[in-house]
Amino acid sequence: MIVAPGSTIGIVGGGQLGRMLAIAAAQLGYRCHIYAPDEAPPAAEVAAAFTRGRYDDEEALARFGSSVDVATYEFENIAAAPLNALAARTPLFPPRRALETAQDRLTEKSFVAKLGGRTAAFAQVDDEDMLRAAIAAIGTPAILKTRRLGYDGKGQARIADAGEAAEAWAALRGVPSILEAFVSFEAEFSILLCRSASGEVVSWDPPRNVHHDGILRTSTVPAGEAVAAQADAARQLACAIAEALGYVGVLALEFFAAAEGPVFNEMAPRVHNSGHWTIEGSLTSQFENHIRAICGLPLGATALTAPRVAMDNLIGDEADRWREILADPAAHLHLYGKRETRPGRKMGHVTRLLGKG
Ligand code: AMP
Repeated sequence: MIVAPGSTIGIVGGGQLGRMLAIAAAQLGYRCHIYAPDEAPPAAEVAAAFTRGRYDDEEALARFGSSVDVATYEFENIAAAPLNALAARTPLFPPRRALETAQDRLTEKSFVAKLGGRTAAFAQVDDEDMLRAAIAAIGTPAILKTRRLGYDGKGQARIADAGEAAEAWAALRGVPSILEAFVSFEAEFSILLCRSASGEVVSWDPPRNVHHDGILRTSTVPAGEAVAAQADAARQLACAIAEALGYVGVLALEFFAAAEGPVFNEMAPRVHNSGHWTIEGSLTSQFENHIRAICGLPLGATALTAPRVAMDNLIGDEADRWREILADPAAHLHLYGKRETRPGRKMGHVTRLLGKG
């Protein structure tokens, strides 16, 4: 199926990912229609149309589906019924199965383990007794994470010893969770790939990612020796996952580079913050290739445009430094147009193309 330039692409979610997708789509001659619950989402400012609606409003999502030629999402916490209402009206990529698998940390880790991927030891936790049993089985330190709705380190509690079980369970408000062994790693990195409906796969050089307080701060390419040694194994697993899901679009997988090899942490069935550097740092950005894939167009090349590329997120009031950043002629500044600055909120990013280190 080819959705030709001039057609309308529906994007569920109105944040910066939707904004950068809409900009890439516009360059290829598409119109974008954004669906989001917020009053003035960043993506709507650069799109042809905007519908304000809740993510659980089946009727509104069905109407939205009828108004577009193909749909995708940049926000993955949409429940099954509203998603079905949308997918009944228009082709939806990435496929629902990918979304459903990635929405639940237990389903996700079980799925990847079944495909032969290495994960941290994990156990299902539905109540405090199960948490104590999981701590006994897995040991400490460990991390308790909500199965659903966690992002940027939210919905997580670290457990240094068994005595902290009750406190951690209370911190997560007793929702279905998983306990994960704490992985000691040399580096964090991600595999970003794009798969077309015909099974063609391209991938970018894996960035090394640094997180603070669970939030991505920087992505750097090349990622360094510890990651380079593990990139092929991680990429092979990523391709097997994409194939098993019949995936179409950009898929991002986060790994720990550990002594025993790459340890899969989580995946996002969408474009990803650790791929923002691809806008200037590679021949075709993650956003453009995602649009190409969901529209049935050939995928673009992903080679680097510079020996090294570095992306820094601008979090909270860091975005106020825009004058200073623009004074560096090598800096490519992206501001997301968010009206309100809040601590921990991603306000923009800056990408620098660099020479050999
Ligand atoms: P997540 O929401 O799962 O991506 O977790 C956010 C960040 O917390 C990760 O990028 C890691 O820096 C850290 N983290 C999460 N899970 C683990 C783990 N099992 N072992 C060590 N660090 C972790």
